[in-house]
Amino acid sequence: MAKLRLAWSLALGVGLLLAGCGPQASIPQGVQVYFSPKGGATEAVVNALDQASNSVLVQAYSFTSAPIAQALVDAHRRGINTQVILDHSQRTEKYSEADFLKHSGIPTLIDAQHAIAHNKVMIIDDCIVLTGSFNFTKAAEEHNAENLLVSNDPALAKQYVENWHAHEQHSEPFERAERSMERTSRPKRD
Ligand SMILES: [Zn+2]
Repeated sequence: MAKLRLAWSLALGVGLLLAGCGPQASIPQGVQVYFSPKGGATEAVVNALDQASNSVLVQAYSFTSAPIAQALVDAHRRGINTQVILDHSQRTEKYSEADFLKHSGIPTLIDAQHAIAHNKVMIIDDCIVLTGSFNFTKAAEEHNAENLLVSNDPALAKQYVENWHAHEQHSEPFERAERSMERTSRPKRD
C-alpha cells in the first residue's frame, strides 16, 4: 500500500513538473508576448522577478533599465539566488546598471569571449524564460520596436540554464574599464 502511495506521489510530481512550474503558477503556462514601445515588457519582467522564489539567471547585452535592476536587487535581498552575465560593453557603458548590481552584492560577470554577448535572457526558478529582442533598457521600453516572450516551460528553461552555465565558465567578474581602455575598446555592433 505504501509502495502504491509512493508511486502515486511520484506520478503526481512528474505530472506537476510537466504541467509547468508550481511556484510561478500565476504566470500562465505556454508563452506570452509583449511588443515595444510601451507594450508592457518592462512590467512583465519586473512582475516575473517579483514572483521568483528560488533563482534568477540573467544574460544581458545592454542593461540600463532602473526598474528591472531594482527588481533584481529586491530579489537578491529576498534571498533569491540571483546572478548576472553582461556583454563586455558594460565595462564602459556610462549608464549601465552593472555598478548598482555589483554594489548590491549580486554576482555580476562579464562575458568577453564573443564579438558581442547579445543574449537577452532571464531564467527564473528553472521554469520561466524571458527572452526576445528586448534589451533591459529604457530605450527598448520607450523608443524601440522590440518583442519579449515569457515562457513557462521547464524543459525549455533547462536548455537555457545549461547555456547560461556554459557562458559562465568563460566569464569574469565585472570591473569598470580604465579610461585608456575605453578609447581602444571595440565599437559596439548591434
Ligand atoms: Zn560566452
